[in-house]
Amino acid sequence: MERESPWGALEVSDAHVHFFSHRFFAALAAQKPGLTLEAIATQLGVHLPPESPEKLGTTWTHELDRHQVARAALIASVPGDADSVLAAAHAHPGRFFSYAMVNPREWKPAPVDTVCLFPAMHRYSIHDACVLPIFEWAAENRRAVFVHCGVLSVGIRGKLGLESRFDLRFSNPVDLHAIALQFPGVPIVVPHFGAGYFREALMLADLCPNVYLDTSSSNSWMRYQESHLDLRHVFRRTLDVTGPRRLLFGTDSSLFPWGWKHQVFDDQAKALYEIGVSYDDARLIFGENLLRIMAH
Ligand SMILES: [Zn+2]
Repeated sequence: MERESPWGALEVSDAHVHFFSHRFFAALAAQKPGLTLEAIATQLGVHLPPESPEKLGTTWTHELDRHQVARAALIASVPGDADSVLAAAHAHPGRFFSYAMVNPREWKPAPVDTVCLFPAMHRYSIHDACVLPIFEWAAENRRAVFVHCGVLSVGIRGKLGLESRFDLRFSNPVDLHAIALQFPGVPIVVPHFGAGYFREALMLADLCPNVYLDTSSSNSWMRYQESHLDLRHVFRRTLDVTGPRRLLFGTDSSLFPWGWKHQVFDDQAKALYEIGVSYDDARLIFGENLLRIMAH
């Protein structure tokens, strides 16, 4: 399956889609007395996901088909929800990679493709002893580890009046330097170019060849930069440091009715094309890199 792009037909895989399952919504509802799943859907103006994760997976396959997107990494976005993405991936072979948010303090191995750490959300340092078993598991099983760094705001929590007691001090990509060197065979994915820690993310990627950056979201962190940055600058500077084999295209799509955020693709493809990225390099960034690190 290929999608129209400035280079012509291009196979596209999305490295960053949130799988907001029924269990995810139930976990949100449990955080505020009286909050029901229906109330959440109404307040957010979104579709309530079906109870069956396989069915939500089907919804996503139709959405990806509609946009000619070959595959997506689905992120279970609350600890304990790995089963949802595993079920969706199992029901739709070849379409999804299973990513699961974990809190390392209560982590149990599950056969997902990638474990996702959110140190600022769960308030631990990457240097904490609880993180080590996850990297050991990833090294043994040839899996990847995704580590959210930088600014973290979960928009839907705010809209629902839920507190977000996150701690930004645990979100510097520099914290990953030692563990990335200790586990050189484990691909480490830092989303959103470090979400505000652009320089630090590039420093880390320069020193550690196993560090990958994902391009997902609107990248509104660009407004924290001292001087004006646009996507073309961001891509050019990143490619100068990492080359084309360590960038993973992603959208950060999540909820319906919005579905797959094609605008993120359109904007990023345009920016990459304008700075002269070749068709071969575009194939890497828009899918082949993801497929390579997911092969195990
Ligand atoms: Zn995200």
